[in-house]
Amino acid sequence: MEAMGRILDGAHIRDQIKAECAPRVAQFLQRCGRPPGLSVVLAGNNQASQVYVRSKTRTAAELGMYSETLTPPASVSTEELLELIRELNARPEIDGILVQLPLPPQVDTQAILQAVSPLKDVDGFHPVNAGNLMANRPGPRPCTPAGIMEMLRRSGIAVARQKAVVVGRSDIVGKPMALLLLHADATVTICHTKTPDLPAVCREADILVAAIGRPAFVTAEHIRPGATVIDVGINRLTERSEAERIFQRDPAKLAAFDQKGSLLVGDVDPLAMAERAGAWTPVPGGVGPLTIAMLMANTIDCAEHRTAC
Ligand code: NDP
Repeated sequence: MEAMGRILDGAHIRDQIKAECAPRVAQFLQRCGRPPGLSVVLAGNNQASQVYVRSKTRTAAELGMYSETLTPPASVSTEELLELIRELNARPEIDGILVQLPLPPQVDTQAILQAVSPLKDVDGFHPVNAGNLMANRPGPRPCTPAGIMEMLRRSGIAVARQKAVVVGRSDIVGKPMALLLLHADATVTICHTKTPDLPAVCREADILVAAIGRPAFVTAEHIRPGATVIDVGINRLTERSEAERIFQRDPAKLAAFDQKGSLLVGDVDPLAMAERAGAWTPVPGGVGPLTIAMLMANTIDCAEHRTAC
């Protein structure tokens, strides 16, 4: 079968959002005599985290923002990290604080996220901002779901009056995604590991969001033909047999696997998605680029809101 769906190009929308951020950075610099500032706390040696943080700080620099990365060792204690966060809360030139997750296992992650000033909480993970989202009041929104809403809006995909199904109920993606869709007047269902007959529930969706963390878990039987499918998952395949199972009809991808020894795949079977969806996000290049763009927008929002200069 020929691919029929429209590809939702995250890189293109990221570039639009960045282009809108740049003049805001310049205006802030002119008004306040300094650029918006982002501090990223990267504890330990998680390699994926290091890659994400590098692209976050690189993007900030491209936009003319100040950014720094603080790298406490993997052995850091909760108390030491709390002290670091207190210092960042007090620094006037820092507008946004991002604590890269996951933190080392001995650290109390909730205690750290709660210590970040809600005014500098560029990830929108502080309970005050989770409450603001719940109540549909202003405040920073978690970057990945916020980016998906921007993608839907800028791609002309209607949300109001549509049936949306979100698979995954994490505090970072699934729950805030469901709330944002709800506030945009979708009728929302949230699914998880205890949902009976998941494929049937998913087939009801006009908009299906997969935030599961399992490679190519969502298949053709989950997708109503013509639905919009948003694939949040980022999974790295390292077994060739797994790559073959998922990309058996895509020799270019298999060749890429053989060259690199690994391959990224989302939570949705890419061929099923291309064939059945009306519009869909590729992995990589769909949702991923938007997360960082929204982080930049959130940092500028925080700078504008907290600085009276
Ligand atoms: P979590 O592991 O925190 O949550 C996964 C959710 O999926 C849980 O709610 C879990 O249900 C549900 N789930 C797992 N297996 C099944 C199943 N078999 N059937 C139904 N539901 C299931 O993951 P995150 O939300 O943090 O991330 C999800 C994915 O998105 C990951 O691949 C991650 O890498 C990616 N991601 C991508 C980002 C981007 O920028 N593109 C940003 C953040 C994440 P239960 O609660 O019952 O356990």
